[in-house]
Amino acid sequence: MSDLEKIKTEIADCRKCLLYKTRNFPVVGEGDDKAEIMFIGEAPGANEDRTGRPFCGAAGEILDELLDSIKIKRKDIYICNILKCRPPGNRNPQKEEIQACASYLERQIEIIRPKIICTLGNFSTVYLMEKYGLKNQVQGISKIHGRIFEVKNLFQSIKIIPLYHPAVATYNSNMKETLRKDFKVLEKLG
Ligand code: URA
Repeated sequence: MSDLEKIKTEIADCRKCLLYKTRNFPVVGEGDDKAEIMFIGEAPGANEDRTGRPFCGAAGEILDELLDSIKIKRKDIYICNILKCRPPGNRNPQKEEIQACASYLERQIEIIRPKIICTLGNFSTVYLMEKYGLKNQVQGISKIHGRIFEVKNLFQSIKIIPLYHPAVATYNSNMKETLRKDFKVLEKLG
């Protein structure tokens, strides 16, 4: 069993927070286990909870469109969320839930070793920036979207790129243009 499959098995039996009681399927993540680019969203929504697949609803359609616009295929990236189980009614993730679930995400990052991590929305942006020692540069997503934060450790260099969550474009169509521009940053890096 691969390390990623092991995580999947563990998450299926996870009781670290109460979300296991209300979810249908956990959403572990999907894509290339050697991807250079990893996208990290917030938490599964209703469609994801029903299918076990990340970003398969309305926000996923927008994400697909944005990826298409820079000619990146879903199969070549890895997509997951901070929370693997759906918060009821799509409420925001709670601090304790993030704390309980984050070790799965940390292991996914260690296994995949992406060169670029795109955080989608405030929750994953704050979590990742704090994890990589960028706490003093954290600002709201409206201030830092599309910027590249480079972090280095002994073993690797990672570019963290905060992006708006694609769901914003489902209720504000102007935001799609902003997202499109931000995705161009990725195209240039490729
Ligand atoms: N929103 C997220 O943050 N993640 C998903 O998988 C779907 C919608």
